[in-house]
Amino acid sequence: MCRQRKGTPVTRGFNFSAGPAALPEVVLRQAQAELLEWGHARASVMEISHRGREFMELAEASERDLRSLLGVPANYRVLFLQGGATQHFAQIPMNFARQEGVADYVVTGAWGEKAVREGSPYTHVRLAASSLESNYTRIPPRAQWDLDPGAAYVHYTPNETIHGVEFQDIPDTGGVPLFADMSSDILSRPLDVSRFGLIYAGAQKNIGASGLVVMIVRDDLLERCPKGIAKILNYAEHAAQGSLLNTPNTFGWYLAALVFRWILAEGGLAAIGERNRTKAARLYAAIDGSAGFYANHVERSARSWMNVPFFLPRPELETAFLAESREAGLLALKGHKAVGGLRASLYNAMPLAGVDALVDFMGDFARRHG
Ligand SMILES: *Cc1c(COP(=O)(O)O)cnc(C)c1O
Repeated sequence: MCRQRKGTPVTRGFNFSAGPAALPEVVLRQAQAELLEWGHARASVMEISHRGREFMELAEASERDLRSLLGVPANYRVLFLQGGATQHFAQIPMNFARQEGVADYVVTGAWGEKAVREGSPYTHVRLAASSLESNYTRIPPRAQWDLDPGAAYVHYTPNETIHGVEFQDIPDTGGVPLFADMSSDILSRPLDVSRFGLIYAGAQKNIGASGLVVMIVRDDLLERCPKGIAKILNYAEHAAQGSLLNTPNTFGWYLAALVFRWILAEGGLAAIGERNRTKAARLYAAIDGSAGFYANHVERSARSWMNVPFFLPRPELETAFLAESREAGLLALKGHKAVGGLRASLYNAMPLAGVDALVDFMGDFARRHG
């Protein structure tokens, strides 16, 4: 068994946290190994100038790797920002819509709702479609969306982390640029970036640690960023400065760079996507095959590969489920309070073996309590 120091056993479990979420173990080990001295810096990556040659090389390599993973076209800029996805709920309309203009929002869960709320002070937010009436268990059919052809953009959340609802294809919004909050599904499978005007994601699910936001934006859209706002809020300024307008989250950026390398080494997004498809299929099969002991209420065509909420036949069993699963090394399975029940998040860093361990545990638990 792996040991930390002085005989303390390593007790890392399979971590199903929705976020901040599990990181690949090899990435954590590399970060541990080079924490005190990174590369030729003779200091930690946290202790060197973000404008020095070494850090600039890391920044360039990370962008190169991300571009290669996603096949980002040349007319898109990649930005490494801060503030969490939540800050960008406000900053995006500030930059890309006008106060007197309109922006369309499609809401399929709690994060879309928040994007609407935070964006509303900065433009006229139109609710173009919502599945609230189904308690966010489905995606409103594209034909029923009420889109304004004059909107600045259409914003949606391809994967709703709390409700476990995920688009399985990219909606067509005609000539209106499509903006996506991909915080919980970026890098989970191959993606056609050219279909989007803007993609953004907080890092703490599939990219790395919290405190970093990755944004991919079509360069012509940056011409909309207003001159009259502070530079720190202006995406065109961040792009012009190579995301080094002020001190970035250097350690978070470094971790993201390691994760991009790791995904490339795993075979890129095609391989990761196949693995994620298999992981999700095994867990949903266990739920659906439990003769009603477990239940997931999301319409099958909208089920998320990344976040799987599920319920027990009697809510009073939840305490036992959480205690026993934790004892078995399966962590953070409590559902979000907005939905209740349980939730397993299956981000890239969750190995197939973790899903198999969960499925085995669930079968055993159902036999004992069914
Ligand atoms: C986690 C999450 C967020 C919130 O990110 P913060 O970094 O906490 O601001 C936003 N959108 C989605 C889809 C998320 O999963």
